[in-house]
Amino acid sequence: MPKKLFQVDLNKTMDKQDVPGHNRWHPDIPAAFSVNPGESFRMECLDWTDGQIRNNDDPSDIRDVNLNRVHVLSGPVYVNGVEPGDLLVVDILDIGTFSAHEWGFNGIFAKENGGSFLTDHYPEAAKSIWDFHGIYATSRHVPNVKFAGIIHPGLIGVAPSQELLDEWNRRESELVDQDPKRVPPLANLPDKDSVVLGTLTGEDFDRVAREGARTVPPRENGGNCDIKNLSRGSKIYFPVFVEGAKLSVGDLHFSQGDGEITFCGGIEMPGWIDLHVEVIKGGMEKYQIKKNPAFRPGPMDPHYNEYIVFEGVSVNEFTGKQTYMDANVAYRNACLNAIEFLKAHGFTGEQAYMLLGSAPVQGHLAGVVDIPNSCCTIALPKDIFTFDIMPK
Ligand code: ZN
Repeated sequence: MPKKLFQVDLNKTMDKQDVPGHNRWHPDIPAAFSVNPGESFRMECLDWTDGQIRNNDDPSDIRDVNLNRVHVLSGPVYVNGVEPGDLLVVDILDIGTFSAHEWGFNGIFAKENGGSFLTDHYPEAAKSIWDFHGIYATSRHVPNVKFAGIIHPGLIGVAPSQELLDEWNRRESELVDQDPKRVPPLANLPDKDSVVLGTLTGEDFDRVAREGARTVPPRENGGNCDIKNLSRGSKIYFPVFVEGAKLSVGDLHFSQGDGEITFCGGIEMPGWIDLHVEVIKGGMEKYQIKKNPAFRPGPMDPHYNEYIVFEGVSVNEFTGKQTYMDANVAYRNACLNAIEFLKAHGFTGEQAYMLLGSAPVQGHLAGVVDIPNSCCTIALPKDIFTFDIMPK
């Protein structure tokens, strides 16, 4: 086992940990630890909500969740000798659960509190608790399914430079200005409420709280990409924007379907992740990995061979309006078609929706040139169901 660098106590929130992490992106959040290139180390993580969700049958904690608290991250880790222009190479050696916490949660956020991908169809909060049995997950809230998870960090990223942070805040506030009263909002702008900024204090704390970018979207630094195949054995190449790179990680998922469509989220859990870091000096220019990270997925993947695949095209399902190549609408229709099929097998709409967010289902952008419809697909492994799902 590599040395434990970042430790958490599951009975304390992130701000109360011996070495606190953070929940905003900013270059001035102090590093929690430093490592040398070539080192391996373990990072323990709290769940992304900082322990707000309970293992019970009542979804009111999902409905009332304080989203200003998310995502609580472990780090930042300063990598000695790394400079802007380098590539930080991060190997995900292994990821696991805590024996004291062998469960996770998925939920549908209420429309007025964050919403989700299908929020106009499912505006109410719902919750499913998933129990872990080794590599498998089952839920008392979604019966008759059992699947192997692809465990991964929903969020891993490096710190932005001040210039990059300013650019994020510029473009995201311009978007919000298009419809400032929208529910849910078009983007989450910096918000001082419920910030955790490591060991920062005083005036620096106030400034960083005011400027720090929310961790909700993926951006140039990686961040909340929610890529289910960024699992054990993956190797990530991060562009470096600040001295030491300042790597942070959190939002561990026991499993997730492509798209993380319920927003909360995959199967969310606290746990640990073992990382190894290297540096490629001047790698951003040399390999032209400058704008966003690139990665090589690991070899760990559940072995499902047979799928039932649902298609969707870019026609608005409420109005019948033909959109031009809107892949977001096409993926939404693919998901809705899968949910209607599952409802015909006895699942509620909410159960089916949470299953698509939790199980290793595959989403694909099949076609983007056949005007006026994009075609998106969602593929459900046949063997995650304890009965035969196929039409006869
Ligand atoms: Zn998550």
